[in-house]
Amino acid sequence: MNLPGYAFIDGKIVPYAEAKVGVLTHGLNYGTAVFGGIRAYWNDDEGELFVFRPVDHYRRFIQSAGLLRMELPYTAESLASSTLELLRTEGHRTDCYIRPLAFYGDEIIGVRLHNLTPRVAITSVPFGLYVENDENAHCTISSWRRVDDNMIPARGKIAGAYVNSALAKSDAQLSGFDEAIVLSADGHVSEGSAENIFLVRNGVVITPSISENILEGITRRTIIKLLKDEMGMEVVERPVDRTELFLADEVFFTGTGVQVIAVTRIDHRAIGTGKMGQVVRQLRELYFNIVRGRVVRYRSHCIPVYRNEKEPKGAPAGRLTAPPRR
Ligand code: PMP
Repeated sequence: MNLPGYAFIDGKIVPYAEAKVGVLTHGLNYGTAVFGGIRAYWNDDEGELFVFRPVDHYRRFIQSAGLLRMELPYTAESLASSTLELLRTEGHRTDCYIRPLAFYGDEIIGVRLHNLTPRVAITSVPFGLYVENDENAHCTISSWRRVDDNMIPARGKIAGAYVNSALAKSDAQLSGFDEAIVLSADGHVSEGSAENIFLVRNGVVITPSISENILEGITRRTIIKLLKDEMGMEVVERPVDRTELFLADEVFFTGTGVQVIAVTRIDHRAIGTGKMGQVVRQLRELYFNIVRGRVVRYRSHCIPVYRNEKEPKGAPAGRLTAPPRR
């Protein structure tokens, strides 16, 4: 992966090489940081880069920071505007991944969450698939259990908690699987190492509810809406047993990184036919069209990066509303 050219840090955009921290930095030593993951999609027909749901991502980012007692001097809207400016400075004309990070920047010894000063950085890089095998993923149920809300809340995207995800992911990949499915301490299905999970059984879509130690995914929210409004399906949020996955007709993951991927085998058992099913196939088509700004009804989720440049002087920089419907 090439390094970014620029970073937004402490309120301004600087060359990436200047966005440095010291080795004693609190967030680096104790994991006292929160992050986000946002995608931007290049639309070749329009010559435009669209950021998908940036304000929703930044709302969650600010809430995650709040769990660590960080009071950030930014609004979700201002961080989204700075992101557009960063992308324009980079001049990306391809699909990208955007990484916001809020971390305690103090260079001191002492585990705590008070009397510390948060710093915010944003970077972006060109990005393709997160899980290469996105049509036929073979997953394993991890022997690692998901962090519990009373240990480190999974509903916040807290840097230190991602050691839990990394343990599960590496064990899965080094054993030849594409991705890990993680159970909660009580044995119910929680989510993937960095994605939410859904199953389809007898025409009903089921996904673990938000009290199952999951990250409340922005993609999960988008997908639930598409399933209900565009595909007329019933979606049930409830605890899910491990063996329900084995008996499902379809299983799929959602997330900014993975987008929508079909899980066709779990621990050497075929799910349904063992091939990508109809529900996930249709969802993938809808989702990829929507994120690229090709579906007028969902265009308000796609924030153009370059169109703002062409706006008349006096228009607010980084306009965050959708362009007029065509
Ligand atoms: N769960 C975890 C643990 C994640 O890290 C992610 C990726 N952010 C998700 C779910 C999916 O969330 P989103 O759709 O907001 O990217």
